[in-house]
Amino acid sequence: MSKILIVGAGQAGLQLALGLVQDGHEVTVVSNRAPDDIRNGRVMSSQCMFDAALQTERDLDLAFWEDECPPIEGISLAVPAPDGSGKAIDWASRLDAYAQAVDQRLKMPGWMEELERRGADVVIHEAGVDDLERYTQENDLVIVAAGKGEIVRLFERNPERSPYDQPMRALALTYVTGMTPRPEYSAVCFNLIPTVGEYFVFPALTTTGVCEIMVFEGVPGGPMDCWGDVTTPQEHLDNPRYGVGGRRLRGYRRAFADRSLRLRSERLIPTPVTLHGGDEAFSAAWEGGTRPTAVLAVSDIIAMGALRAARRLGVRVPEDLEVIGFDDIPLAAASQPPLSTVHQPIPEKGRVAIRLLIRELDEGGPRERIVLPTDLVLRESTKGGSESGSKRSLTRAAENLAAS
Ligand SMILES: Cc1cc2nc3c(=O)[nH]c(=O)nc-3n(C[C@H](O)[C@H](O)[C@H](O)COP(=O)(O)OP(=O)(O)OC[C@H]3O[C@@H](n4cnc5c(N)ncnc54)[C@H](O)[C@@H]3O)c2cc1C
Repeated sequence: MSKILIVGAGQAGLQLALGLVQDGHEVTVVSNRAPDDIRNGRVMSSQCMFDAALQTERDLDLAFWEDECPPIEGISLAVPAPDGSGKAIDWASRLDAYAQAVDQRLKMPGWMEELERRGADVVIHEAGVDDLERYTQENDLVIVAAGKGEIVRLFERNPERSPYDQPMRALALTYVTGMTPRPEYSAVCFNLIPTVGEYFVFPALTTTGVCEIMVFEGVPGGPMDCWGDVTTPQEHLDNPRYGVGGRRLRGYRRAFADRSLRLRSERLIPTPVTLHGGDEAFSAAWEGGTRPTAVLAVSDIIAMGALRAARRLGVRVPEDLEVIGFDDIPLAAASQPPLSTVHQPIPEKGRVAIRLLIRELDEGGPRERIVLPTDLVLRESTKGGSESGSKRSLTRAAENLAAS
């Protein structure tokens, strides 16, 4: 029997510890997080595991969630055709044996508690270099299985085993419920967009029961590498669902939060970015009994649709309703009344995009992210004559929107 200490209570450290205990060794696991910290903490992984890996857990009598966790019975793969004419690759197949994804926030605390039940020690402590020195004196073997923890930097990367010295994807996860199940059999549904990244989704078991996990993998610097400033699940959902609109919505949310105002989700109306979309969204809200005093549209064309609906319904702009768009398209100044909006330098955006594209085709190399300036342009769809007056009235309109 050997005395073995493992730093790190993740998939690697805990599974190894439980296996070593089963083989009769004296095991200590040092974890910088207690079971409840993990249980109540952030999502860590999408943790989809296939049959061979699941079998290791079965062999160690650790597959506690196998009956509860929905099986992933197949794989589907789709790649769009480069010319946009449909799908270049589109296939699906059943797996020989199912895969499963059990939220690590369920699994790791469960395994830590099981490890103690089976006679090992679990010590909650952030192991440092000094501790490692001591552990090596007190144990026959010390294993560092600390994942991405700082302590792992003690060990150099072995380029033969790990050729990459930086992440190849920017990852983002959203756990959701209420998705329409895939017909016939459940699957990991992979969607690959060359040079952009991958999106895949599959059923899983999380702390609240069965869910679906949406995984987004963006090629660094590409359009799907867009999660850096996302801080809440809602912002995360806004992002893939609404694209550019989602990012603008995040800006609105941030502005509301800066003023300690709540942007109520029932006040958000997703709609196509068309004149008709804006018209229909405003009409639907009005018919549903809502009497908005302000509309913040994520594009001018939606705002102009809302103006059209307001005119038809006899709502006075800006007296009873203030409307603001985004983009400052040429028509914005000619709308009835002229539309207040956020100006973005559209021709300049086109010039910069083409310049970057030509440079990338000629020289390759990492993609550059350029943020162009925007301006608030106040016209007659919002109250107040002077710019500062109008800014104040916009803040008031936002307050009304949050309170109504
Ligand atoms: C977004 C995302 C999606 C993924 N999806 C999948 C997937 O679908 N399928 C799959 O197989 N893999 C997936 N992975 C990878 C998988 O989650 C990891 O490979 C796996 O969790 C690594 O396990 P580990 O035990 O090595 O490290 P970790 O899970 O990181 O565990 C290390 C533990 O050590 C602790 N620790 C760190 N430093 C110290 C210290 N100094 N002292 C004490 N404790 C310390 C940490 O708190 C942590 O609990 C995904 C990863 C990510 C990030």
